[in-house]
Amino acid sequence: MPEVRLGDVIDDYCVKCKRIMNHSVVSLLNNGPAKVRCRTCYSDHDYRHEQAPPPKVDTRKAALFSEVLAKVQPDSASAAAPAKAKTKRKK
Ligand SMILES: [Zn+2]
Repeated sequence: MPEVRLGDVIDDYCVKCKRIMNHSVVSLLNNGPAKVRCRTCYSDHDYRHEQAPPPKVDTRKAALFSEVLAKVQPDSASAAAPAKAKTKRKK
């Protein structure tokens, strides 16, 4: 296994560029890259072993959807409060 040194240019996934880009090694851990810096947008991040992060959108969408569903339930019909009388203005 080739030794990685600080400043070496390696491939990794950049979250900002959203693709595999050239990265410089900026810190090492256990003879492997720990942190890298994208050579295109210069953002630092942990070395990802060229793996894209898993999408998180689905769980958030599901939570929002169930929240909306709960509001539509007939049990919460009493939530529609009668309109309050408007405050009188002094003249
Ligand atoms: Zn980048």
